[in-house]
Amino acid sequence: MSIAENLERVTASVREAELKAGRKPGSVELLAVSKFNPAESVLAALRAGQCLFGENRVQEAREKFEGLRRDNPALRLHLIGTLQRNKVRHILPMVECVQSVDRVELLSEIGKRAAETKKSVDVLFEFHTGEQSKAGFPDETSLLKAIDLLAGMEYVRCRGLMTMAPWSTDEKAVRASFRALAAMGESCSRRYPNLDFSTLSMGMSGDYRIAIEEGSTLIRIGTAIFGERT
Ligand SMILES: *Cc1c(COP(=O)(O)O)cnc(C)c1O
Repeated sequence: MSIAENLERVTASVREAELKAGRKPGSVELLAVSKFNPAESVLAALRAGQCLFGENRVQEAREKFEGLRRDNPALRLHLIGTLQRNKVRHILPMVECVQSVDRVELLSEIGKRAAETKKSVDVLFEFHTGEQSKAGFPDETSLLKAIDLLAGMEYVRCRGLMTMAPWSTDEKAVRASFRALAAMGESCSRRYPNLDFSTLSMGMSGDYRIAIEEGSTLIRIGTAIFGERT
């Protein structure tokens, strides 16, 4: 199947899941994860109307997207993978959002670099909810510390939370993970009424239907759009 056909199929399936969950049509945004796929694949998706992409490595994102961005002003890019502090200044000019803010030191660097260039950037806080690699803030205390730090930053905008569910065929474990993120999002909204926690980035190719049932507003889909990564 072509990338355009895959996009069409995923979009239809997302609409169906929204309906089934009693959610408003269009309330879930689709981010196409293009890691390991070439610029031509991104172009094919762009031509099919997909404008939002995600990459998990800074070097790969720069090589692939610098040219694409010049020629396609509608293109939007999020960083979704682990980010080293010394790479922050390279990626900030390219991305609308860093979804993988997982420690205070990283957030500090983002705040510092964004202020230097006076260019605002959105962030999501990655929260650990059971995934094997243990990515993300491990507990509420460490997460709240980081949010407190963000509250004083002029050029960093909080948009919500991100998580990865455990890689598992046990639907209960996956669902519990998404539920934990949704609950944390609600708790943060109450605690920080002046910050925006409206985004819940959860759900990948294998589990996005469950994520939508549990309140996801942003799904990150690679394989189901671009095929198996080699
Ligand atoms: C690779 C990746 C995805 C997409 O995974 P698929 O299973 O290919 O849809 C989503 N989120 C993150 C953080 C990733 O690294």
